Order: sequence, then C-alpha cells, then structure tokens
Amino acid sequence: MPRLPDYKKAIEAADIILLSSNQFELPLNLEKLISGIKTINAQIIRYSETPIDGSENMKLPGFVVERKGIYYIAYNDWIENAGHNRFTLCHELGHIILNHDLSKVDDWAQETEANVFATELLMPEAIIQELVNRGYSIVNENMLEGIFNASHTACQIRIDEFRNMPEWHGRYTDHETIVNVQFRSYLDSFFPNKKNKYYDIDYEIEEERERDEWR
Ligand SMILES: [Zn+2]
Repeated sequence: MPRLPDYKKAIEAADIILLSSNQFELPLNLEKLISGIKTINAQIIRYSETPIDGSENMKLPGFVVERKGIYYIAYNDWIENAGHNRFTLCHELGHIILNHDLSKVDDWAQETEANVFATELLMPEAIIQELVNRGYSIVNENMLEGIFNASHTACQIRIDEFRNMPEWHGRYTDHETIVNVQFRSYLDSFFPNKKNKYYDIDYEIEEERERDEWR
C-alpha cells in the first residue's frame, strides 16, 4: 500500500521555514531564503550553468541531489517563466525539508507533499486570507502573480483551492505569527485595511469628542 500524503506536515514545515527566514516582504527572495536555512546546506544550480548530469533528470523542471552533506537544487532555467521556476525551487526544497527519499522520483505521496509545501511557502495561506480580511479581491490571478511572483497556473490552483475548500482555511497555518509579526509592516504599507473598521470606530469617537468640545 502506498502511503498517503501528509498535508499537515508539509504545510507546517513550509511555515517553519518561512517564519525562521529573514524575509519580511513579498515576493520572497528565494535564493536568500534557501541559503539562509541553518539546518541544511543547500546550493542552487541552473541547468544552463553546468554539465551536472546529461541524464533523465535534466528532462525534469528540477531535481535535488545530495553529495557529501550538501544538497544541490538544480532547476531548468531554459524555462523562461520566473514563477514556474520559483515553484520548482520551493518544490525541490520541500523534498529536502520533508526528509524525502531523493532516489524516488515519482512517488505520489512525496510529490504531493512537495507541491503542498511549495504552494504554502510561495503563496502563504495566511497572507491570502489576510488580503481577503482587509477587503481585497483575490479572484484575479494577476494580482496574486504580482504579489508572490508565482506562475499564472499556480495562482489559479491556489485561488480555486481557497474558494472550494473553505474548511481547510487556517487549519494548519500559523496565521497570527505570519501576518501580525512577520509581514505586518509590508501588509500595512502595500495593502492597508480597506474596510477600516477599527479606524472608523476610533475616528467616530474622536469626532464626537471634538464636536462636544465646541458645544
Ligand atoms: Zn518532486
């Protein structure tokens, strides 16, 4: 029996990587994020830069190999789609962080977990939820593409998932810390609360006080 993917493990692992990174703005700088991970030694390699391996692997969008304790994350930079390549980097990183068996290239559970990890890292659910909470519409994929520098396809999948599986929202993510600690100032500068509910209440009280002073 093949094992089932562990969604919880994949989402939590992505959030831990995000929260322990020194990234406070979006889109994430993945090269910095990956080289800054203290628990692993990982290096990024572009297919165009190296004759690493003329084999089957090079037909993939990316792959990861381990040599003497160093993980080499290789990706196909001939594919001219930054969002696609960023997803590939996150996917391969997921295989490392989730302690996958790197010799198995098409294990369904491993591939699903790496995709869930990549989706959460590149487009954290807490941020999307927060945009909605602040009155922004996420139905337009172009908006998410811009924010996360993710591919059109990845954004479409994220939006569909978000709409169709509301019971999943916030289940495993650390909304509080991601939104209120790590990305608070980024969000406040670029995506101020359109609903302004707290502001309105304070403003009304203040206005009333001022009116009363003049009476
Ligand atoms: Zn994979």
